[in-house]
Amino acid sequence: MGELGRTVDHSTIIRWLRETDTGRLARLWRSADAVRAEHVGDAVHLRALVEISNHCVRQCHYCGLRAGHDRLPRFRMTAEEIQQCVVRAKQLGLGTVVLQTGEDPGLTRATVASLIRRIKSETGMAVTLSLGERTPDELAEWRRAGADRYLLRFETSDQALFARLHPWMPGHPLNRLSTLRLLRDLGYEVGSGVMIGLPRQSLTSLANDLLLFRELELDMIGVGPFIAHPETPLGFGPGGDAKGCTGQVPADELTTCKVVALARLLCPDANIPATTALSALNPAHGIESALGCGANVVMPNFSPQPYRLLYSVYPGKSAGPGEVEAHLRCLRRRIESIGRSIGSGRGDSPHFVSRASRALRIGG
Ligand code: SAH
Repeated sequence: MGELGRTVDHSTIIRWLRETDTGRLARLWRSADAVRAEHVGDAVHLRALVEISNHCVRQCHYCGLRAGHDRLPRFRMTAEEIQQCVVRAKQLGLGTVVLQTGEDPGLTRATVASLIRRIKSETGMAVTLSLGERTPDELAEWRRAGADRYLLRFETSDQALFARLHPWMPGHPLNRLSTLRLLRDLGYEVGSGVMIGLPRQSLTSLANDLLLFRELELDMIGVGPFIAHPETPLGFGPGGDAKGCTGQVPADELTTCKVVALARLLCPDANIPATTALSALNPAHGIESALGCGANVVMPNFSPQPYRLLYSVYPGKSAGPGEVEAHLRCLRRRIESIGRSIGSGRGDSPHFVSRASRALRIGG
């Protein structure tokens, strides 16, 4: 795991999060990069992101899709539209499709199950769901229908901060940690993560988030900077009302890279994407920065252009080339220019593969 990996505890994490010396930071990037090369290799896996609905019943204070944003026109793609995006991704050589939405009860258990079955039978691609917090019955049914992976960020391990950002909704209980455990028991490859620089997020809680990644034994870890959305309660600018508070986590690229690197040291064989939020902050080099300090996945957007603009989780999310072939060509060039290759096949998380085969051995 490398010299740094073995010794990552809470105080070490805090020290790295406060570190400003570029020489010492270069050591962190090198260690994370070496652990990445050793445990998940040089291939960068591409995932086709399709944002299939922007309807949402939740009121998350940071998100532009929140139900309270009533000026946002809402869309839900048809099964045919979704399949077109998926087939295109398959033709362009991608092995995984990620279906993401707001929390949309209009996408029923049966609708999603039939989408999954169709994708699996017509393309054989790996299917990742990112549909928010859904019921145990729905999650079980979708797994039976063939879904492979589920992404659900716990957003922050600070319970008071979590409660402030996620207003209680009768009939919609929210317990992301127990849902993550359930997903794992159902046999999903499980991904989670946090935002970096939420207003009033402390370095101490961010260090706890990182340790929780390891405790939850995540197969995938996604972290990105918080980007204020003007139509939300937190829309008052980067860093929010807590700017300048002692211990406030900065919502910047440097902190994001530190968290990517530390996540890699703590969870050596997880898949870790260079997230879209980091690219929104630094369109020119965000991907290269993350890939250079531990990341090994990129998620190009395959959503149709008119819908993409409406999937405005945060400003700048839908920026970038609209034409997917050109975007992929550019991505390939960027990835190869830093000495990495494009992955082929499903690109399962090595962490998942080894825990699944362990479970099989024990079961058999
Ligand atoms: N409804 C799904 C998908 C939400 S969008 C779910 O709840 O899981 C995916 C991720 O975008 C969220 O988990 C959150 O971490 C991130 N996100 C939301 N608003 C954001 C913002 N303003 N800035 C940066 N990231 C944001």
